[in-house]
Amino acid sequence: MVEIEILEKTDDYMRFIVKGVNVPFVNALRRIMLTEVPAMAIDELVILENSSMLNDEILAHRMGFIPLKTDLDSYNLPEECTCKSEFGCNLCRLTLTLEAEAAEKTITVYSRDLKSENLDITPVSDKIPIVKLALDQKIKLEAYARLGKGKDHAKWQPVSMCTYKYLPQIKIDLERCNACAECVKLCPERVLIDMEEGIKTQNVIECTLCMDCVDACPQNPPAIEISWDKEAFIFKIESTGALPVERIMLEALKILDKKIKDLSNQLKKGRKSEES
Ligand code: SF4
Ligand code: SF4
Ligand SMILES: [Zn+2]
Repeated sequence: MVEIEILEKTDDYMRFIVKGVNVPFVNALRRIMLTEVPAMAIDELVILENSSMLNDEILAHRMGFIPLKTDLDSYNLPEECTCKSEFGCNLCRLTLTLEAEAAEKTITVYSRDLKSENLDITPVSDKIPIVKLALDQKIKLEAYARLGKGKDHAKWQPVSMCTYKYLPQIKIDLERCNACAECVKLCPERVLIDMEEGIKTQNVIECTLCMDCVDACPQNPPAIEISWDKEAFIFKIESTGALPVERIMLEALKILDKKIKDLSNQLKKGRKSEES
């Protein structure tokens, strides 16, 4: 049975232990979160005026990487939208405008200066600098955002971090340990502590499995043993702010479920055509 224990959780970050799964499963989930869960990002620009020091291409590149709040329930991926139009419609495209001028002094244009036609889809932070304008410089543009997938461009990744590691296990053979505390001094994560009654462990989940403690142990074989549970993982997900981490995880599970069903249907079809 799969078990989940949430260690930390905010809207943008989640760390949890998942037990009863294997590497192919957690890696599939990680890859789907990175490459297949859609997010909204600016994809096209019409630059009406740009006298800033950034040329149009660099400006477009910067705009593409501004994370936007994403609404997966109201917008469609352009390739799945009923409009079938290369220009998009209200269900698959969002327009944002930006107009700024340094009339009196040098100014910095921030993500908050982008005006969105949908007040629910705005930059996740209003403090992202886009460009500096020197006196009399001006930019005026229209930006078109759409849902996309990280496998097509990193700007559509909903996660800025998505990693997992095995759940560590630490065993100290107190009969052979001479309490020299070399392992305690070396452990970068302060997982080992020197107590009167011998070497103890704390916060074992913080162990990075670096093995420095094993290498430092003067005993032969070492009195400390580091291993890991092959069916338990510590997963860390950090959202760009486009979607809450829980939603990213649920979407990834839906996609994985669909892939497995598709594969199973293909196998059934193949078997039927062999029989006929
Ligand atoms: S493997 Fe590394 S992090 Fe883990 S207890 Fe040993 S020294 Fe510390
Ligand atoms: S280095 Fe080895 S012998 Fe020394 S305290 Fe750690 S486990 Fe014990
Ligand atoms: Zn459309």
